Amino acid sequence: MAAERAQVAVIGAGIAGLSAARELARLGRTVTVFDKGRGPGGRIATRRAAPFLFDHGAQYFTVRDPSFASAIDSWRSAGVVDLWRGRIVAFEQGLVRSSSDVVERFVGVPDMNSLPKFLARDLDVRCSVKVARAERLASGWALFDEHGVALGEFAQVLATLPHAQLVELFPHSASLTDRARASIVRPCWAVLAGFEARLPLDFDGAFCNDATLAWIARNTSKPQRPDAESWVLHASAEWSAANLELEPRVVAEEVLRAFERLAGRALPRPVQLDAHRWRYAIPEASKGPTDTAWLDKELGLAVAGDGCTGGRVEGAFLSGRRAAELLARA
Ligand SMILES: Cc1cc2nc3c(=O)[nH]c(=O)nc-3n(C[C@H](O)[C@H](O)[C@H](O)COP(=O)(O)OP(=O)(O)OC[C@H]3O[C@@H](n4cnc5c(N)ncnc54)[C@H](O)[C@@H]3O)c2cc1C
Repeated sequence: MAAERAQVAVIGAGIAGLSAARELARLGRTVTVFDKGRGPGGRIATRRAAPFLFDHGAQYFTVRDPSFASAIDSWRSAGVVDLWRGRIVAFEQGLVRSSSDVVERFVGVPDMNSLPKFLARDLDVRCSVKVARAERLASGWALFDEHGVALGEFAQVLATLPHAQLVELFPHSASLTDRARASIVRPCWAVLAGFEARLPLDFDGAFCNDATLAWIARNTSKPQRPDAESWVLHASAEWSAANLELEPRVVAEEVLRAFERLAGRALPRPVQLDAHRWRYAIPEASKGPTDTAWLDKELGLAVAGDGCTGGRVEGAFLSGRRAAELLARA
């Protein structure tokens, strides 16, 4: 009976899935969120290796849209987001320039993952569940995990997965899969380096404009982080793509060498060193239509996430909200 089943399944508990689920719940829908990860957050991620702490996915978020600004206000009031006042620079042909932007950069506190955790509160979020098959019913959808276990029947589904996986899971909708196939997503190797003492570098984050490195940040400089000197080094999309299948420890050493080159000095050996491969890190901005979320009304299937809006937390959040509105009206 329809009354006994959740009205909407959301696949993915990243910022898009969580903002969609909250909006759907606000609009009176019952919602179940599935995520294959151990906790909510997706690419808004934090890794601990005591005493170090690394935000190894999204580094910070910026705001342009008034409704995202008001969401940030409410998260600041709830104590899960704060301004990052670190000194941000840019390397240009070996020279360090103070970043000329006057952008406000926000971060989760005490770590990036605090925001998705906060957004997941009081929602029905089921983690460590990979949605592996979707079956079309006369009305609605039946979802199954990778072991063939039934996850339930739902009137509507809202998917926030990487588009390569969306195409496999939902071949039912030609209109959505055609669009998804056109998406290009760049990878990123993230290297997490913990040092015994503060590094003698007079900046906290840097756009590197380097063949190997795209971005480096002293995670410790973000608000409410532990004192242990923790650096996150993001390899460039090109370097990451060319070296995607390397062993993490080999990547860590190569990226570390690039860090030293950029710093222009020998750096002490990290006491903690690891690398994380983001296979689907940053989607390219779409060259086609720019709807923030996609809907196949007939199938009751919506698509949200930064794949629709182009590689930023703000876009993913707004995309989730928009998909929820579209589904609620469908
Ligand atoms: C290295 C890196 C640096 C970045 N830096 C910034 C930055 O500084 N500023 C900024 O604004 N943005 C940044 N971004 C981008 C930002 O992280 C994303 O735009 C945003 O987090 C995307 O949210 P999402 O919900 O669309 O996707 P995701 O966060 O990827 O969420 C999708 C979720 O779906 C789950 N999932 C996938 N398949 C399945 C399945 N079959 N079943 C169940 N669950 C599934 C995944 O586990 C994941 O949790 C960065 C991203 C990366 C990787």
